[in-house]
Amino acid sequence: MYTLLLGPPGSGKGTYATRLSKKRGAPHISTGDIFRRLKEQGGELAEEVAGYMSAGELVPDEIVNRVVRERLEAEDCQESFLLDGYPRNLVQAQLLDQMLQAKGRTLQVAFQIEVGEETLKKRISGRRTCRSCGEIFNVFTLKPKTEGVCDRCNGELYQRADDREEAVANRLQVYGRETAPLIEYYEKSGILRQVAGEGGIDQALAAMEAVLNKGGGG
Ligand code: ADP
Ligand code: ZN
Repeated sequence: MYTLLLGPPGSGKGTYATRLSKKRGAPHISTGDIFRRLKEQGGELAEEVAGYMSAGELVPDEIVNRVVRERLEAEDCQESFLLDGYPRNLVQAQLLDQMLQAKGRTLQVAFQIEVGEETLKKRISGRRTCRSCGEIFNVFTLKPKTEGVCDRCNGELYQRADDREEAVANRLQVYGRETAPLIEYYEKSGILRQVAGEGGIDQALAAMEAVLNKGGGG
């Protein structure tokens, strides 16, 4: 099944996508994770991308689209995928539709994760990410067993550069301006499914799985 997760920064897209991916065997494609990995590798493109990210701005469509196109062509993405953080504006959404259309396929579900702004800010300020495996923790709500250490792989937990307060305000604005219009876009195409994101991880996951088990949104 072709699925995507829409939601503001801090809404839990990455956490849900990681778990759904493990349970259902669909590859989890996070453009944010791809760009963060790129940064670790270094180089000119990586520098450019990191500049946009730490300011809370979107990476230019041309770069993002190239990366996504390449990833979606891989063998493991032909039957199913879970997109997390892509598309983030209308240009990207249209390109995604075109890429799938060219293969005679369409998206089946767009989950919109709903979380209020106060919760978002708290979650983002508490978020810690594993440098090795990408697992996400929160010092308030989802503590690792040992402070600063990943439960899963013992990797080092760190705070993302764009989780600093200055960048967060900008990310929320960018979301409202660029990404929120996609809610209407997917509502019109009939595949939007809303998920309450404040009732706990398990509850939201169960709601998403129920939709996927029924064969999707559209
Ligand atoms: P969050 O949703 O919490 O902001 P992500 O890891 O999805 O976190 O994204 C982090 C940053 O990576 C974004 O603020 C942006 O700079 C960049 N990015 C990720 N996906 C895209 C995309 N589809 N288009 C443009 N920029 C992106
Ligand atoms: Zn880890």
